[in-house]
Amino acid sequence: WLQDRGLGQRTGRLVVLAGPTAVGKGTVSRHIREQYPDVLLSVSATTRAPRPGEIEGEHYYFVSDADFDRMIADDEFLEWATVHNASRYGTPRGPIDAALATGRSVLLEIDLQGARAVKRSMPEALLVFLSPPTWEELVRRLIGRGTESSEEQARRLETAKVELAAVGEFDVEVVNDEVGRAAAEVVAQLDVGAV
Ligand code: 5GP
Repeated sequence: WLQDRGLGQRTGRLVVLAGPTAVGKGTVSRHIREQYPDVLLSVSATTRAPRPGEIEGEHYYFVSDADFDRMIADDEFLEWATVHNASRYGTPRGPIDAALATGRSVLLEIDLQGARAVKRSMPEALLVFLSPPTWEELVRRLIGRGTESSEEQARRLETAKVELAAVGEFDVEVVNDEVGRAAAEVVAQLDVGAV
């Protein structure tokens, strides 16, 4: 996807990876970061607290509500949303514009509202929906992760039901049955139609 396209210009592609909670967006995008380092994985800002093991600047930029307000006011976000009726999450636009300008492809791992917002402001973005092999498998992954309280799990599963119904709005659906296979399918999209 970094090939010269014949006009003396490299073209990066913006791909949005969305999908319900616990479907494995993080695992798939981590795999892509390790296997395909030329793809910029956008790091979002969030007002939620870090989970154990999460690293500032790698998983998220963890910011205060006041910082988040300031970033909105300064128009630093390509999109932002309140997710699961709790914390706010936003995609910083600076690194994305810089990467695309130099021909790097960019992967955004965001929620459905974010995917819709990106498509509105950048219609050339490709929306990829990561879906679970089955509903039971999604529930199993969420509970198995064990990082949310049972109330939070219930809330996320309610949101997931609504999100799964939105697959038709996406350009491509990738079933996350096996991480390496799903990641390769997403990366193939980074190369498609970049003109
Ligand atoms: P988590 O708290 O589990 O890390 O993420 C919760 C949800 O927020 C996930 O569905 C994730 O895709 C979404 N999310 C993460 N970053 C962003 C962002 O920058 N914008 C939007 N709209 N959603 C995001």
